Amino acid sequence: MKTNQTDKIIRSWQTNARKAIPAIRTFLKRFAGSLPTQRVLEEVHEEVFSGFDCLSCASCCKNSSPVFTRADISRIAGYIGLKPGEMETRFLVSDKEGDFIPASKPCPFLETDNTCRVYEVRPKSCRGFPHTDNRTAWERHAVMAGNAAACPAAFAIVERFRTSAKA
Ligand code: SF4
Ligand code: SF4
Repeated sequence: MKTNQTDKIIRSWQTNARKAIPAIRTFLKRFAGSLPTQRVLEEVHEEVFSGFDCLSCASCCKNSSPVFTRADISRIAGYIGLKPGEMETRFLVSDKEGDFIPASKPCPFLETDNTCRVYEVRPKSCRGFPHTDNRTAWERHAVMAGNAAACPAAFAIVERFRTSAKA
């Protein structure tokens, strides 16, 4: 059941997301001014993710560049038995903003079965992604449009609200 639902959501994202993103950007800008309650956002997020298997996807770990804060690096380095500086040299690079991001895509901590080698201590930005259960994140409408482009489940959640708004 979960596999069927996951396949359906991934297929819809693959087929429709690229074409829908301009309209989604416009919708999210308007939606940010009249957001539902935090509880409603959490309910829809929960409903979509409860029927979705992220281990069949891992698009975020394969294609995105999550920020690793100093606190993340220190925690993860301890977990894998490295000094923070060694972890930075081996796995990370500094981006234009000076943030640490993975040195490669897919993320160097992604295993071949789509599990995360550092899951228990993963970066805060990975833990919250795609932030569709966070009302404040919906206010950053351009970022949320990017999340819908990158994440099948976020796309499904955004499309749920966009369809209701059209009805
Ligand atoms: S959070 Fe989104 S992109 Fe990442 S694995 Fe789950 S559905 Fe895929
Ligand atoms: S640290 Fe783990 S959860 Fe974050 S991108 Fe890498 S593999 Fe994915």
